[in-house]
Amino acid sequence: MMKCITCGEEYDLGEIIYTCSKCGSTLEVICRPDVSRDIFECRKSTMWKYKEFMPVNESKIVSLEEGGTPFCKCQKIGDKLGIDLYVKVEGSNPTGSFKDRGMSVGITKAVELGVDTVGCASTGNTSASLAAYAARAGKRCIVLLPSGKVALGKLAQAMFHGAEVISIKGNFDEALETVTSLALEGQLYLLNSINPFRLEGQKSIGFEVVDDLGWKSPDRIILPVGNAGNISAIWKGVSEFHEAGFIDDLPMMTGIQAEGAAPIANAVRKGKNSIEPVNNPETIATAIRIGAPVSAQKALRAIYDSNGIAETVTDDEILNAQKLLARTEGIGVEPASAASIAGLLKLVENGEVDKGEQVVCIVTGHLLKDPNTAINACTKPVEIDANVKALSKIINS
Ligand SMILES: *Cc1c(COP(=O)(O)O)cnc(C)c1O
Ligand SMILES: [Zn+2]
Repeated sequence: MMKCITCGEEYDLGEIIYTCSKCGSTLEVICRPDVSRDIFECRKSTMWKYKEFMPVNESKIVSLEEGGTPFCKCQKIGDKLGIDLYVKVEGSNPTGSFKDRGMSVGITKAVELGVDTVGCASTGNTSASLAAYAARAGKRCIVLLPSGKVALGKLAQAMFHGAEVISIKGNFDEALETVTSLALEGQLYLLNSINPFRLEGQKSIGFEVVDDLGWKSPDRIILPVGNAGNISAIWKGVSEFHEAGFIDDLPMMTGIQAEGAAPIANAVRKGKNSIEPVNNPETIATAIRIGAPVSAQKALRAIYDSNGIAETVTDDEILNAQKLLARTEGIGVEPASAASIAGLLKLVENGEVDKGEQVVCIVTGHLLKDPNTAINACTKPVEIDANVKALSKIINS
């Protein structure tokens, strides 16, 4: 069943509903399978390894083998900071971001429900992912993007997989409001993260992190926060495995936002249980350029219940962290993803993260998602004549 996170009203899993019809709050899926963790052994390393925890009909699963992403120890950055650092590389998912986990469950649900049109508003990655999964499931796909604010790689994916791409003169929050109204009229099935089934897929990041660590929780999980679905989902995942008795402890959930788009971090600073929307969110990290996060209430709960924290970083700090990760560890991520590393550096510096902590940073999307930002951060290649002398001169200068 689905349950309202505020008033507790319950809804059937077969109902097409996005928010509580009694109080307007967000819904969450309740999923408590009675299984032992031994059943996961010897299964292929995708998010469907944990299928008993996914609220869908197994025979209908639409998958591109998402999940099972690399879990890389970052010795050099970790040593420098005096912590035990791991990075979960979500850019290795089929379309290059963690959104694929949520879309696999979301599109499977769309197939179960028998809808023929799916849609979303997106800062880019949600549309790229939805376009691919809708293609695989044979559904019509409509995506709304904020005009001029979508990274090139993501736009290419959404268009190439055959989505009907519509550019909105406005920001993400306005695009979401528009497409949500259309969904409430029943014209399409909405696959933004207000849809609780998206979070069911994304909670598998939490499952994998504790599985990767040998059935142990890290001290802390740090990730970028935009619409706040992912931090809520990962917390749900680790909490479900904790409740099932698979792990003994829980991580401190640590959310990082860009300074110009930080409603959650602002609320946490003031110890509040609700956010004040940011009207004109701005950051180079377009994936987290969001002023009115739909999962704010869930995210604040995750942060408070886990004894976590939220922090902000500037665009410069994001770009520096992106380069640091790429050049010291070989891991290429898009700007929003680097916010987790930038936040970590800041939290170590101000003493919020203790020496010796075991920290997992979730890097959410691939470097190639935003090639323009990557190219602009580098100097242009020098052009030379095609001869040894010219080459020798250049590499010895
Ligand atoms: C969607 C996205 C985020 C933000 O996740 P939320 O669930 O909206 O908080 C961060 N980074 C990347 C690369 C994304 O695609
Ligand atoms: Zn309610």
